Amino acid sequence: MGGFLSVRDVEVKGQKVFLRLDLNVPLDDGRIRDDTRIQAAVRTISYLLEHGAMVVACSHLGRPKGQYVPALSLAPVAECLRQLLPGRNMHFAADIVGPDATALSKELKPGELLLLENIRFEPGETSGDGALAKALWKLAPDIYVNDAFGAAHRPHASVFALPCLYMKVVMGFLLERELAYLVGRLGTPERPYLAILGGAKVSDKVPVLKALADKVDALCIGGAMAYTFLAARGIRTGASLIEKEQIPAAREIMESAGRSGVCLSLPGDHVVARAIDDEAGAHAVPTQAIPDGMMGFDIGPVTAQTYAAVASRARTVLWNGPMGVFERPAFAAGTMTLAKALADTKAITVVGGGDSVAAVKAAGVGDKISHISTGGGASLELLAGMELPGLKVLSRK
Ligand code: AMP
Repeated sequence: MGGFLSVRDVEVKGQKVFLRLDLNVPLDDGRIRDDTRIQAAVRTISYLLEHGAMVVACSHLGRPKGQYVPALSLAPVAECLRQLLPGRNMHFAADIVGPDATALSKELKPGELLLLENIRFEPGETSGDGALAKALWKLAPDIYVNDAFGAAHRPHASVFALPCLYMKVVMGFLLERELAYLVGRLGTPERPYLAILGGAKVSDKVPVLKALADKVDALCIGGAMAYTFLAARGIRTGASLIEKEQIPAAREIMESAGRSGVCLSLPGDHVVARAIDDEAGAHAVPTQAIPDGMMGFDIGPVTAQTYAAVASRARTVLWNGPMGVFERPAFAAGTMTLAKALADTKAITVVGGGDSVAAVKAAGVGDKISHISTGGGASLELLAGMELPGLKVLSRK
């Protein structure tokens, strides 16, 4: 994809391969709440081990801010991985570039895996330190494999400075799939191409909205974000969340969509309440009738049906950000209606961003979506046309 080399394109037998993974799983008191990311990593690991590579893998977990934080140790992740790789020799280092990792990497044999401790325990990781990169490179100096799309937008040592030291920098299977959808399918989409954007903050999504405003055929906006757009049209939005400083950007996006003939839709009705915990008081009102003092917490039922109908006519759908506060039942209907609409359409469907992924899973339709992106921030930056440090360094065919 994108002309980049993948693990399949290089001879890994007998090579010391550095593998950057995203094993950033949610933990509850040291117990893994959801092991999806670990399971997803198995394919690339197994491929490398089966093909006789000596693999040194690393990942981040949480935000330990450059210090050893016992609660953010990768030890439980290593244990889970061990169970998912039966019959494989797997080692877990108690450090990252210290004596344990160095000794274990030297003893590594073909077909064996060494997982390093949480890379973010090293202060040089987030600062992109060259000395840390050099020390990591010494552990596995032959080939670098990136399978951590979720971290590809970060100029961190293990994502950017480290691969710069290799002749061969290739994609793992997960990264390859992300690019096949986000760059391939969405780059030359089957039309009509619809983007549905929601969530809380307009500011996070302005770059992607600007980039999409002349690429898509239709743009449906929901979530708290919609209120800044409605305010930009001069509509009273009660006490709903608005980012005043983003009103000019919202105006610009609507003008750009208008010039490109993109059909940009804003919600025509809303589920409003006095406050987020006033679920008993939740009721639907049309856009022109949002009462003073009330806040919109979900798109209304008419809007949900309208957006679902637009999705059913599209051939490609990108969805990022929930339509309302879907974590609360009174404000979840809009998001759930759309999740089901995406599941029912024959279109290519791509869902990105942590919350919309959670919503699709909560609706029980995760397996009916063509591609669920693992990288929220990374997918937004990629779709906004930005250059991602982790992708910039990939070797080309
Ligand atoms: P984001 O991270 O920007 O995609 O925002 C996701 C969050 O937006 C979720 O936690 C939702 O609860 C929240 N959200 C969506 N719609 C609204 C709304 N109308 N008012 C307040 N929060 C919202």
